[in-house]
Amino acid sequence: MLQIKDKNITFLDVTEEEIKGQLTNVVHATLSPEMRSCPECGCTKMGTNGNHQFVKNGKKVTTIRLAAVHYIPTVMKLAKQRYYCRECHHHWTAQTSLVAPNCFISRHIRLEIARLLKERIAMKLIAELCFVSSNTVIRELHQFKKYLPNKQTLAFPKVLMVDEFRSHAKKEENMSFICADGETGDLVDVLPDRRLDNLVHYFKHSPYAQEVEFLVTDMNAAYYQLIPKVFKNAKLIIDRFHVIKHINTAFNSFRALEAKRLISKGGQSATRGRKIKSNWKRLIKNRQNIDISEYKTWRSFRAPKYPYLTEAMVIDRLLSYSEPLKEAYQVFHNITDAFREKDADLFFDTIRSMSDKLNPEFRHAIQNLENHEVGIRNGLIYPYSNGKIEAKNTHIKTLKRVSYGFRSYDNMRTRIFLTNGLIKIK
Ligand SMILES: [Zn+2]
Repeated sequence: MLQIKDKNITFLDVTEEEIKGQLTNVVHATLSPEMRSCPECGCTKMGTNGNHQFVKNGKKVTTIRLAAVHYIPTVMKLAKQRYYCRECHHHWTAQTSLVAPNCFISRHIRLEIARLLKERIAMKLIAELCFVSSNTVIRELHQFKKYLPNKQTLAFPKVLMVDEFRSHAKKEENMSFICADGETGDLVDVLPDRRLDNLVHYFKHSPYAQEVEFLVTDMNAAYYQLIPKVFKNAKLIIDRFHVIKHINTAFNSFRALEAKRLISKGGQSATRGRKIKSNWKRLIKNRQNIDISEYKTWRSFRAPKYPYLTEAMVIDRLLSYSEPLKEAYQVFHNITDAFREKDADLFFDTIRSMSDKLNPEFRHAIQNLENHEVGIRNGLIYPYSNGKIEAKNTHIKTLKRVSYGFRSYDNMRTRIFLTNGLIKIK
């Protein structure tokens, strides 16, 4: 039942004892293997009386933590045979496959801890489930550090997605860097620091950096600068969804501003401003999906005060309240339509031919896209996006939430690799 295969362990008794205030199963056993030679000098000599030159020299009792039996914590009090060699005066203690030398946690538990570390649960919970201390769990975690990628072994995929996430590890309050394979979504690495100098320093040592063909990133960060410095053969791709988000944000902030301006004027204008404010979703809706046939009553245009209207008529009414909004609306949709059609030339032509009469903040926000023209064009040509890395970030957030933040960045990094199945436990 205990899955102990060492034939040299002899079971004596099982008792129930209170250990640290907790009812515990105690398995009493001895470990006394037959010795054929001294491990130090290798002597097998027999003495004059026909006995070995090394002799049994008392027993040492150690308490080994076993897996819980029926949810009751279980330990083994194992009396290990001690030996003494008369030839070389060496003392030693018998060892068993049940525990590593100088360790008091059975291999079964250590395997179970390793298995649980792959789950998105707190390390404190793992310690409670295995009836061990948090330090034991952290010690087990540390032994996986040597399997993490380092500068020399770091291999890069053809498509490299880069992004950042808030690490919340106590020492580094800033943002951390994450990169993953753009085709499979597999994690490549996480780094505690997203500053460009450190990234360049880290990546340029890898012999694989030249194998990256595409670098996928968003517009916020300066990761595109990694291309000339590290990934010399890579093409920049700006994530499509971030481009759409950027355009939507630009239009929405202008729409909010315009609604506010109308509301502050009071009277009829205020009512109209509030209607623009509450119907914001309708204004960013894809024009191709706007309903033009179904007449009904609307929350902002209730019958019988208003006649039945179609969705298209509602939008026309809202836009008739503000000439600047109407202009911005046209530009906004012309741009997003071109982007949706993956027509990069039309997209940038529309941006370049924007009227000077448009609200300057809105115009500048949109014109900002021109600074990323190469990456945006590539994003429309190639099928890669950052979607898969966003999923990774969500996983990391879950892990951080259940762990109440990590005290050490290294611990977090190791667990991110474990939960992503990138360290294989045999
Ligand atoms: Zn010896």
